[in-house]
Amino acid sequence: MDQYKTPKRPLIVYFAIFILAIFLFNMLLMPLLTRTPETTYDDFLSKLEAGQVKVVQMSRDTEEILFQTEEDGKTRIYSLGQMEDGTALTQRLEGSGVKFGAVIPQQPSMLGSILSWLLPIVVMLLGSQLLFRSLQKRMGGPNSMQFGKSSAKVYVSAQTGIRFADVAGEDEAKEALGEIVDFLHNPDKYKEIGAAMPKGALLVGPPGTGKTLLAKAVAGEADVPFFSISGSEFVEMFVGMGAARVRDLFKQAQEKAPCIVFIDEIDTIGKKRDGGGMTGNDEREQTLNQLLTEMDGFSSDKGVVILAATNRPESLDPALLRPGRFDRRVPVELPDLQGREAILRVHARKVKLAPEADLHATALATAGASGAELANIINEAALHAVRLERKAISQADLDEAVETVIAGYQRKGAVIPEKQKRIVAYHEIGHALVAARQSDSAPVHKITIVPRTSGALGYTMQVEQEETVLMSREEAFNKIATFTGGRSAEELVFGTYTSGASNDIEQATKLARAMVARLGMSERFDMTALETVGSKYLGGDASLTCSEQTAAQVDQEVIALIKSAHRKALGILEENRAKLDELASFLLERETITGEEFMEILNSPAQ
Ligand code: ADP
Ligand code: MG
Ligand code: ZN
Repeated sequence: MDQYKTPKRPLIVYFAIFILAIFLFNMLLMPLLTRTPETTYDDFLSKLEAGQVKVVQMSRDTEEILFQTEEDGKTRIYSLGQMEDGTALTQRLEGSGVKFGAVIPQQPSMLGSILSWLLPIVVMLLGSQLLFRSLQKRMGGPNSMQFGKSSAKVYVSAQTGIRFADVAGEDEAKEALGEIVDFLHNPDKYKEIGAAMPKGALLVGPPGTGKTLLAKAVAGEADVPFFSISGSEFVEMFVGMGAARVRDLFKQAQEKAPCIVFIDEIDTIGKKRDGGGMTGNDEREQTLNQLLTEMDGFSSDKGVVILAATNRPESLDPALLRPGRFDRRVPVELPDLQGREAILRVHARKVKLAPEADLHATALATAGASGAELANIINEAALHAVRLERKAISQADLDEAVETVIAGYQRKGAVIPEKQKRIVAYHEIGHALVAARQSDSAPVHKITIVPRTSGALGYTMQVEQEETVLMSREEAFNKIATFTGGRSAEELVFGTYTSGASNDIEQATKLARAMVARLGMSERFDMTALETVGSKYLGGDASLTCSEQTAAQVDQEVIALIKSAHRKALGILEENRAKLDELASFLLERETITGEEFMEILNSPAQ
């Protein structure tokens, strides 16, 4: 963005020029202008003879001889310069009756005295003008004096022209945003019932998954103006500028309502405000406060919908996520096999593809790649085809592009190697299988081995069929067994452990601990409360309310509980080994498997 490029000359240069000018003026020009005209000794003598010399004086600081004359009624001052020996002069003067040693008032010329105060002012004005201009250049926008004027770009739908059809995959995100589009289309439908639209939706997902694209698509679909500003634009601004910009952005938006305000990379301004005093990022905090104020300040029925995107939701200030602000969260996850193929197709529309090129094969080879990376693969393939002077992109070009692009990403560990994918698949099926075989556990809804935003390599989504208010001892125990199911499958099939179970371990331990210490679900302690939980609103940390010896016993009880649940899970998986293999290889192939598919395979007769 050219508003923010650094000026060619840094400010310090202007300062230097300014100081130098004043310095030179004082050194060279001032003495010239105010200098007393010098004259010769002969001239002095002739003036003395003519009786024009009135006063003679030796200047104290420069040690020159000055004399004052009166010629034709005008007072003049001359200088004789410095004299080696003043005795001859003194003798002459004594005879002539001229006053000697009296003080002659220094009388600089009129021009000199005016310039001596005018010039510095002029220089100063010029200097500050230059300074000011270069400051303006930095702050963005040539529209002078309007310090806080936002440079928020206005995109009108005709210009973005992006539709939901341009965003491939991400069906869940599109569905969630579809409601916003509908609201912007006919707000009356919502007003009639009195339904208030959420003010803001937060798009959350890893980089390159199409969050910015989705936001533009919402504007395109709804056919409303699109104001966008990126959080990083607030960085490197003067104090108060960010807040002024936010204010202005919302003012513009309200004038143009219905419209969409999109704040990209909101984590740059919306970071948690930590109370720790001296960190002193006042600017960011002010900007964030202004944003919160603005969001509270208008009601959504005006038709301003705020979208924001981030890939670090955990670092956001909780105030931003409160109801009435970004209370809706739209996950934008990495695409699965189907999604990847769809994205490749979207981008392949813009290039010439040879009939034998197989995008499905390319999608298969790019597990874990994001939409941006897939778009890049198509472009690389096109470049490769041009390099080889082909008429269209062939499969070989695609393969080559996958290799160049993925080689670049493997360093970042985004694309999962085959071996690890196998482990993850078995791990996830392990959870699901243990859950399904225990009557009291909820069936799985969806299993995927596409890496998630949370950092988990795979994910088993369970749906509780009815809201669980009460959990029996058996249910709790089975839940722990399900948590251990992932690791159990790894043990059974690969004979090793991986770090993939860390979250399972944490959750299993938490539940087991609660069973023993708070829920009275152990023989040994019966209904004794050994732990109390602090206020839920203050974080809900549990604190011990028992002796150290008892605490040690609690630990043992928890360990025993988990061990027995783990044994149970292993037993279930051993019994169902054939189904485990079948399901795992199916998942490996498809990357995502729905609850129905899962149950279908599980209940089909063994081959
Ligand atoms: P993010 O904002 O999530 O980092 P972008 O929206 O900037 O990602 O995506 C970068 C580019 O990647 C897009 O301009 C588009 O070309 C491509 N892309 C990403 N996701 C998709 C998708 N789901 N469908 C089509 N193209 C996508
Ligand atoms: Mg983006
Ligand atoms: Zn797990």
